[in-house]
Amino acid sequence: MTILNSTAEIRAGDAAHHIHPMTNTRELNEKGPRVIVSGKGSYVTDSDGNKILDGMAGLWCNALGLGRTEIVDAVTKQLQDMSFYNTFFNTTHQPVVDLAKVLSEVTPPQFNRFFFTGSGSDSNDTILKFAAYYWELKGEPQRNIFIGRHGGYHGSTVASAALGGFEGMHKMNGLPVGNVFHAPSPNWWDFGGDLSREEFGLKIANDTLSMIDGIGANRVAAFIGEPIMGAGGVVIPPATYWPTLTKGLKERGILLISDEVICGFGRTGNWFGCETFGMEPDFMTMAKALTSGYVPMGAVAVSDKIVDLIIEKGGEFAHGYTYAGHPAGCAAALATMNILREEAIIERVRDDIGPYLQKKWAALADHPLVGEAPMVGLIGAIQLTADKVTRKPFPSDAGVGMICREHSFNNGLIMRAVGDRMVVAPPLTLSHGEADEMIEKAILTLDMTYADLQAKGLM
Ligand SMILES: *Cc1c(COP(=O)(O)O)cnc(C)c1O
Repeated sequence: MTILNSTAEIRAGDAAHHIHPMTNTRELNEKGPRVIVSGKGSYVTDSDGNKILDGMAGLWCNALGLGRTEIVDAVTKQLQDMSFYNTFFNTTHQPVVDLAKVLSEVTPPQFNRFFFTGSGSDSNDTILKFAAYYWELKGEPQRNIFIGRHGGYHGSTVASAALGGFEGMHKMNGLPVGNVFHAPSPNWWDFGGDLSREEFGLKIANDTLSMIDGIGANRVAAFIGEPIMGAGGVVIPPATYWPTLTKGLKERGILLISDEVICGFGRTGNWFGCETFGMEPDFMTMAKALTSGYVPMGAVAVSDKIVDLIIEKGGEFAHGYTYAGHPAGCAAALATMNILREEAIIERVRDDIGPYLQKKWAALADHPLVGEAPMVGLIGAIQLTADKVTRKPFPSDAGVGMICREHSFNNGLIMRAVGDRMVVAPPLTLSHGEADEMIEKAILTLDMTYADLQAKGLM
């Protein structure tokens, strides 16, 4: 049995030797991180013994909650039978073949072949190469421009960060960003002005197509978007946006990449977010819930149109990761897919727990601090605002979202703050009781945050 060090010892070791992702290390070391020691189902426990309801399913990934023995056992058995073999140089193995076959069954019909990676970021880098190779083979090598969106998130490698729309991530001392343009975000709350949501969705789709025409549509290789922007604040696009944009891209011959790293595998109440929003992608990016987060793994779904041309006309596809199709990752993903299917989890999100939580969640918008509380499937947001009607933001240095996040953690509910928007994506296995608990804790958190803001004269 592992003997755990004291919290103080773990914090000291962390400060001395561990560099955290997306973190200001100086500030973290002053404050000390929360130490998580165990997790079961929808809860994690910290080293002070607090049991916390994980409204974020880890980092959007633990779709089936923690500690599912079916996944653990499948991975263990695979590691015992064949811990590793690669899929380069004319070899394959059953776990990777089984997983690819299952994915072909659950993805939209245009997808029958899959390339495996270690993460969502790797997957998006892979898609750039596939798209570039496709256009070269197709005889349109001038199509080498990619379009992402402001507020989009596609990963942290140099290329995937360039596709994303977080300026801070790709303006690092001039790292290469070539050939990427960013289209406007369909974020109605921040940018919708006086337009209705539907009018705004149409406008942004059409502005995006005009921008593409300005660049030269025949120079554009592909457009990438998350069905719902996740890290950008759970931005649920107006219903008019994706169908209009999908049609316009198709008319211009531009490939569509649906980044399903968050929306995939049931999060929106369908297997994939593109199905919920009327997109017809040529590629899908997959990671996170693919293995329910138990083992790192990513995958790329490549449509028949692309892969058929590459097989027919191409040579060696000069791209691959050592751990592509890692047997342990495949075992975790297969066990995850089994549970999703056998327990009809996606139908449950669509017909039962999704609507149940959405209804209560939407009512949070009655709170004086809340402008809107949208949720699709089991992914939602709470927009904090100083004025529900004018949608006036708080001063950016007031850190309102962080105040709210802190209260939420202390009240036993993990929510993430994106600016002044709180976001949640709980495990898809969430029970009705846990949904009620989320709501109670969210209300308590909003009340406490509201009291703080009144005391500071911000409300
Ligand atoms: C998390 C995320 C990624 C990156 O995945 P990693 O596994 O962290 O590399 C890409 N796209 C979206 C939409 C994500 O949420």
